[in-house]
Amino acid sequence: MPSWLPQDFASLLLLLLAALCSLTTLSVAWGYLAERAFPKRRVFAVPLAAGQLTHELKGNVVFVALSALSFALALRYGLIKFAAPKTVASIVTFFTLMIAFQIFYYGLHRAMHHPKLIWMHRWHHRSQVTTPLSGQSVSVFEALGWMLGYVGLPALLSRFMPVTFWGYFGYIAFNIVGNIVGHANVEPNSPAAGSRFATLFANPLVYHALHHARWTGHYAFQTAMMDRILGTEFADWPVLFERILGGKPLASLKERGDGEAPSAPNA
Ligand SMILES: [Zn+2]
Ligand SMILES: [Zn+2]
Repeated sequence: MPSWLPQDFASLLLLLLAALCSLTTLSVAWGYLAERAFPKRRVFAVPLAAGQLTHELKGNVVFVALSALSFALALRYGLIKFAAPKTVASIVTFFTLMIAFQIFYYGLHRAMHHPKLIWMHRWHHRSQVTTPLSGQSVSVFEALGWMLGYVGLPALLSRFMPVTFWGYFGYIAFNIVGNIVGHANVEPNSPAAGSRFATLFANPLVYHALHHARWTGHYAFQTAMMDRILGTEFADWPVLFERILGGKPLASLKERGDGEAPSAPNA
């Protein structure tokens, strides 16, 4: 690991805890600010469940603590073999990890919706209408799964390609901010962000909000790519996206854009 990081484990852990708490707090604030900045672009005009924010806060504490511990172990004991810090290698590291995570997360998420594994994932789905605190609100078991993506995946890739510290750092920071802000109950994107081409790179926020409302599709993390390839993309979401952009939030979790009767959520 870089020589400027504390070399003793306790100091490294404390530094990482402080960094992750700060990044989480700033990202949550950003998410709430986005909700304030676009009051006419709410995704769901549905109240939060009783006790939801306390539940989410507890999930965030677990997630941040486990992340700090995992990063400290990975850095201190050299689980990720870092290459020389070159600019091109850092850019390649960032994009390779980002793409690999889309595939990894889709697999993990879809597996957690299997009846045998849904117990891991129910904590996250207590948030039916999402908030910026929903992103990292997961059970300790699901958080361990995320650590496979945040530490295991880069550790594995570093055996086969140059993985730089700054490329890895960018990947983690981007994922944390995107995950938290991406759960805000607001649609700040422009109409162009809803095109089939644009959603190969990043989804509007309504995309994942519909996963929380319906359970049975939209398993992807940042882009619609994996859902599109594997047939788990809701056909009616672009209609709902346009409706929200037109200032009409969804009045029910069961609202649909294709006139079909709402289906009951299942595991
Ligand atoms: Zn979610
Ligand atoms: Zn889910």
